[in-house]
Amino acid sequence: MTSETILVVEDDDAIGRALVGALTAQGFVAEWSTTGTDAVRSAQSVNPALVLLDLGLPDLDGVEVCRRIRQHDATLPILILTARRSEVDVVVGLDAGADDYITKPFGLAELLARVRAHLRRSRQQPGETRFVIGDLDIDCESRRVAVAGQEIELRAREFDLLAFLAAEAGNALTRERIMSEVWDEHWFGSTKTLDMHISAVRRKLGESGADDDTPSRITTLRGVGYRLELP
Ligand code: CA
Repeated sequence: MTSETILVVEDDDAIGRALVGALTAQGFVAEWSTTGTDAVRSAQSVNPALVLLDLGLPDLDGVEVCRRIRQHDATLPILILTARRSEVDVVVGLDAGADDYITKPFGLAELLARVRAHLRRSRQQPGETRFVIGDLDIDCESRRVAVAGQEIELRAREFDLLAFLAAEAGNALTRERIMSEVWDEHWFGSTKTLDMHISAVRRKLGESGADDDTPSRITTLRGVGYRLELP
């Protein structure tokens, strides 16, 4: 099997070096772009399996880079690296087509785990109707959900919500995106409904349901949205 290429877009010399070093040590081919313009070009020329994209670049904004890459490639996994405090940047980046984000400073082990999870996920066939994620088994044809082989009862909207999170497992999803996909295309109301449904789904999956720090399959991304974690 040929090594997969990871495109690293990072203008910070120390971070860029660390990323390239870590990826190479893991057997990946790392291509390094230090500007947005070069990144957009490389995304097409080096045929990467995944892009690690810094948001603060000297020329183009990272979000704009993301948007341009997406115009040419709808499925290439893009992980945003952000030092920005503002959650708004992350939300804008995800809405521009990024799949996930990691906040700086990050541990290399965490980053590599996330990279591997996204690569695994991107090898899945599109249009799947059954999602097996750890001990969670979701069948969209029969609308059945089982946890560790035990079937659980979900209400219609709870099922739709869980199925959408599962189809995008490992991806950070903004509240707006979830609301528009699961509820209505043009949702302008309160997203309190979403939190209540997340809480109900968590409870039925055998978790506390509370939005606290107890581990859950569904991670709350403060100010951003939710992510169903890959095992
Ligand atoms: Ca930067």
